[in-house]
Amino acid sequence: MKNISIKVKITMWYLLLMTIMVVMVLTFILAVSSSVTTQTAMSRISSTVRSNLTQVSSSNGKISLGEDFHFYQNGVYTLIYSKNEALLAGQVPVNFTQNEPFENGLTRTVSTEDDNYYVFDLWLPFDWENGVWVRGLMEVPEDELIIKNLILVVAVAMPAFILFATIGGYWIAKKAFKPLEDIISTADSINEASDLSARIDVPSGSNEFTRLAKTFDQMFTRLEQSFEAEKQFTSDASHELRTPISVIKGACEYALKYDETPEERQETLSMIHRQAVKMSGLVAQLLSMTRLEQGTEKANFEKINLTELTKAICTEQAYADRNVYFEAKNEISAFVDTTLITRLIQNLIDNAVKYGKTDGHVWVTLTENEHEIQLSVKDDGIGIPKEEQGKIWQRFYQVDASRTGDNGTGLGLSMVQKIAEIHGGYMSLESEPLKGSNFVLHLPKNNY
Ligand code: ADP
Repeated sequence: MKNISIKVKITMWYLLLMTIMVVMVLTFILAVSSSVTTQTAMSRISSTVRSNLTQVSSSNGKISLGEDFHFYQNGVYTLIYSKNEALLAGQVPVNFTQNEPFENGLTRTVSTEDDNYYVFDLWLPFDWENGVWVRGLMEVPEDELIIKNLILVVAVAMPAFILFATIGGYWIAKKAFKPLEDIISTADSINEASDLSARIDVPSGSNEFTRLAKTFDQMFTRLEQSFEAEKQFTSDASHELRTPISVIKGACEYALKYDETPEERQETLSMIHRQAVKMSGLVAQLLSMTRLEQGTEKANFEKINLTELTKAICTEQAYADRNVYFEAKNEISAFVDTTLITRLIQNLIDNAVKYGKTDGHVWVTLTENEHEIQLSVKDDGIGIPKEEQGKIWQRFYQVDASRTGDNGTGLGLSMVQKIAEIHGGYMSLESEPLKGSNFVLHLPKNNY
């Protein structure tokens, strides 16, 4: 039973119900029809006998019958008996052998060996002492014939009806379960071909299956994103870690092979240390980037005083000996993830300092208008050529890698852009080589 599909189970269930219903209805019809037949037969015998009775008369002890007297009419035999129950007129049916006593005005059923009869007697008095019995006899109509016909109809109609209902029901169930079949086959194809881009052709409407199909599609999208992010992480990590690892490997091999002077050894060790620091920074940044993309690092939005937060970052120890200026005309609050926004602001200020000129300046300004909050980080550094401005947001892209040396990974701005997106905002940039750059975060005010 467990292995039977739901479609078949449903079909079987309503077939059983229908069969029970049909049997019940048939039983009812039979019962009613049998009672109707009995009623009709009884009223027929009594009315025939009563009508014949009016045709019987007696004169001078002789009985005479009128023209409209019928010994056999409507299946009813009419017999006339004397007071002491001797047959005077009429013919008793051959197989009615019973010696049935007379009862005035009562219809009853009398069973003989072969048949059943309705018997109805009426006493017709001629005077105080004399009279005759008029008896009606009628074979009980064969219910069997009706039943036989009904059984025949049912025997032919039932299988056809059941077949029709089964096919129709199964077809409807199959149609209703189609989205489920689609879900199964899509899940199967993903499983077999590892093709995470497959989606269910979600049917229109909003029944349970449609919702299930939509949920599955969302799940497939999440799975695909996670899978892609993981693939990207693996390929980025192996690509980016290759250089520092080979530098460390080369330095170690050289140190092992040749007798280095203490100064050389010191230099080798500090190079290995620099590369290790770079690798750990890279791995940390890559991990948080992957988590952001996968959605595993969930943004935790809260209403904060953005002016205070930005001011605190600008006055951090790290920028103490830099000319980082903060300006905001009023207290601006925003609905943001504090950790992510802090990371974004720090990245922008770090870059402004890193790519600024010696003794350069960084201006951090917070403003707002009707629609958005703008956070600008402006420097008077090296600037970015026009043709590079679109590319710097890509992962690992660096305009001039030699400029940052071991200090940059090329991941900062792609993370900044991702964080802006998570907040429903975007980044804009104005920059001119040798004059400086202005990175602006635009945060919509309707994101909460
Ligand atoms: P990283 O700073 O680690 O190299 P980023 O993604 O933060 O990586 O920046 C990508 C590139 O964009 C940098 O390598 C640099 O060439 C350029 N860039 C970023 N910020 C500035 C800036 N304020 N001034 C000039 N160039 C910048």
